Amino acid sequence: MPIRPTLATVDLDAVAHNYRLARASAGRPAIGVVKANAYGHGAVPVARRLAAEGAPFLAVALVEEGVELREAGLEVPILVLGAAYGERYDLLVSHRLTPLVFRRDHLAGLAAAARAAGVRAAAHLKLDTGMGRIGLPPGELAAFVDAARAAPEVAIEGLCTHFASADLEDRELTALQVRRFDDAAAALQAAGLPLRYRHLANSAGTLEFPEAWQDLTRPGIMLYGYVPFAPPGPVPPRAAEAAAALRPALRWTTGITHLKTVPAGTAVSYGGRWVAPRTSRIATLPLGYADGYHRRLSGRPGFGCGEVLVRGRRAPIAGTVCMDMCMIDVTDVPGVELGDEVVLLGTQGEARIDADELAQKAGTISYEILCNVGQRVPRAYV
Ligand code: PLP
Repeated sequence: MPIRPTLATVDLDAVAHNYRLARASAGRPAIGVVKANAYGHGAVPVARRLAAEGAPFLAVALVEEGVELREAGLEVPILVLGAAYGERYDLLVSHRLTPLVFRRDHLAGLAAAARAAGVRAAAHLKLDTGMGRIGLPPGELAAFVDAARAAPEVAIEGLCTHFASADLEDRELTALQVRRFDDAAAALQAAGLPLRYRHLANSAGTLEFPEAWQDLTRPGIMLYGYVPFAPPGPVPPRAAEAAAALRPALRWTTGITHLKTVPAGTAVSYGGRWVAPRTSRIATLPLGYADGYHRRLSGRPGFGCGEVLVRGRRAPIAGTVCMDMCMIDVTDVPGVELGDEVVLLGTQGEARIDADELAQKAGTISYEILCNVGQRVPRAYV
């Protein structure tokens, strides 16, 4: 039972709405990416809702995340994207998780675990077409096919790759990645390796690159209500249209736990970096960077800093964001009282603060703002 008034409320109808938009955008079934606790929204409830919406696959980063979904009773196929198997191929097999494979040791480990369990294990081949992170270099495809033939317990049913810069204005690398992918798919086909699932489009690809719409798409951030193209960078027209139609799914709130009036010249928080320029009304909030409220949102008079919503109005952060608390300046917000709801992320009346705004102010991206909403912040689902 939470005592402090801090809550992340996740609107699962918004997730479902965004999922349908992703599917409509590419006219293809979409894998629901729920890694990293569904970008901070809660893996199990989000996964259940996406499965109910008909997602043909869910995708996690870690074996542990896949196990959590199976233990929660999810039956839909689950891809494991991160390739950190730690020799626990047995867990992949016993929990019917579909790993990405691209090395001989992946094939050998998975084949051995499948043989021991008396089953065939499905896997997707991951190509590195230009991301430079994980995956098979396209030049090594023929050797991989030979190794796959020698591991009949592994059924390579899919081919995938990941875009490095589909959210950038320069479309050259993405176009090259698609060409490399298509060449590899054709070579596998010619080698007699039938592929049921080809997928490469993240949210940026789902919105902007029709050539990347193959058997499936693989969007993440747009399911949570955001597009990867964020101001101040240019937002292409299709993505701008999508951004207007998507619904941010997470609303993050807290309450005022202390309120005081201080005279001009009073320093607030660590380092005394905020000094009251006038008689000021200062409210304390019971959350800080340990909850994922970025310390870069700290406020000093005259500097850009984080803002929150209280009584439908914006109020700036006053001073350094602490580990468990931060202060806001509510001098210009009439009628503020102890216990008032404060919105960190989301809407209140007509006002709205979104993850792109916080990201821009903190020098990061919306993904990190959402993923970092701390574990100790309870989630509620509507
Ligand atoms: N596929 C892979 C392999 C990823 O790593 C990610 C996210 O990082 C996604 C898909 C989803 O990307 P996005 O959230 O940009 O749609």
